[in-house]
Amino acid sequence: AEVKAYREELDSITVKGIDCPKPIKTFAQCGLNLKMMNVLKKLDYSKPTSIQAQAIPAIMSGRDVIGIAKTGSGKTLAFLLPMFRHILDQPELEEGDGPIAVILAPTRELAMQTYKEANKFAKVLGLRVACTYGGVGISEQIADLKRGAEIVVCTPGRMIDVLAANSGKVTNLRRVTYLVLDEADRMFDKGFEPQIMKVVNNIRPDKQTVLFSATFPRHMEALARKVLDKPVEILVGGKS
Ligand code: ADP
Ligand code: MG
Repeated sequence: AEVKAYREELDSITVKGIDCPKPIKTFAQCGLNLKMMNVLKKLDYSKPTSIQAQAIPAIMSGRDVIGIAKTGSGKTLAFLLPMFRHILDQPELEEGDGPIAVILAPTRELAMQTYKEANKFAKVLGLRVACTYGGVGISEQIADLKRGAEIVVCTPGRMIDVLAANSGKVTNLRRVTYLVLDEADRMFDKGFEPQIMKVVNNIRPDKQTVLFSATFPRHMEALARKVLDKPVEILVGGKS
């Protein structure tokens, strides 16, 4: 009853799927280290938004998650915070290792925005974020990836180009255990499904996958079913 009351206090949240953890009321509840808590404080993010309250514990439980909430509802942090905790639990990168987390985004602008947000945390944690997108020369991005990064934010097509470049010696997806499909409806609208599938098929099957989107139209459910394993589905607000 208490959880139900709290859910109602948030924007209306619908959860589908079995055994989804309770929503969190504070960031302190989700096991973030002091460095990350300090970044949140500096950014003046005092408490989780509705999508964050429900999606963060669901992702941290290790489940695949679909999070649907309108633009501006704070979806970025909903996948970034669990991502950093996931990475900190992994052995450090070694020479020649590719990223541990890959975030797919529909456009250069959105990739750069997410890169900036991720970097605020990565810097204090001693982690590296690389950002790679099409429409510009590839050589600088290749040089950056070769330096090694735990996190890569990228558009799907450019990720494929980078994987193929220099006979596959730039980076690899062998260590990826956390995959984000961000703004999935927009990637779908742009016709990126084949590129997304190509990236997905290059990542180990036991990865954790999370999908975030402002809308979840019928035709996207088929993609989600192909890519996510028994996901928890979290819908904030009405279906748009
Ligand atoms: P979405 O991806 O859902 O469109 P964003 O993740 O881009 O939304 O977040 C929208 C804005 O809300 C950003 O400016 C972000 O800094 C801010 N924001 C995110 N989480 C919080 C929070 N918990 N408290 C206050 N502001 C937040
Ligand atoms: Mg977003």
